[in-house]
Amino acid sequence: MPVHLEPRDVSSDLQNFNSVLIVSCPVCAPMSVAMQQNSSFIEFFKRGLKTKAFEDYIQSIREPLEKRGVRTGAYAIHTPTPMMCIWTKWQRNRLLKRARNYEAVLVLGCDSAAYTALEVLKNTDCQVIQGMEMLGTANATLKARFPLTFELDMHCVLESGAERRQKATLGGREHIGPMAP
Ligand code: SF4
Repeated sequence: MPVHLEPRDVSSDLQNFNSVLIVSCPVCAPMSVAMQQNSSFIEFFKRGLKTKAFEDYIQSIREPLEKRGVRTGAYAIHTPTPMMCIWTKWQRNRLLKRARNYEAVLVLGCDSAAYTALEVLKNTDCQVIQGMEMLGTANATLKARFPLTFELDMHCVLESGAERRQKATLGGREHIGPMAP
């Protein structure tokens, strides 16, 4: 059940830090960016499990920071689970060790991913900033192409808390709004 996420402009949130670690949840975050850019989710033989559109997005955050002398790092972990919402204790400890040398952690993921980072880092001085906004739950068709290439054809974003809903088109993206009683 992928959560649909939209990148936030975090430039002002990050302006006072000298070092930032970008921590990504490698599930819904790259799926969302790939869908927004109509780009492939996985091109296994070109990039392994990395999503080009998402890697470009991470780079677009790092570049301006590094230009003004901020040290940056990027972190994601795929095993035993890529989903930050259910990371194991071992994965949480790894983040704690990795984030120790940074003033801030920028989480590219949903509220639950940010909560994981907040919990892990609660006894440190490292600040946690969420870099993406949750819009709802995505519904998409996964399409496979030869060789081992996967794309997502997004149908709609279901807003949280909705009961049965009717379709409406908002700003080019189809949302599902509340159904009339
Ligand atoms: S932490 Fe959030 S973004 Fe990551 S897999 Fe879980 S629901 Fe998706």
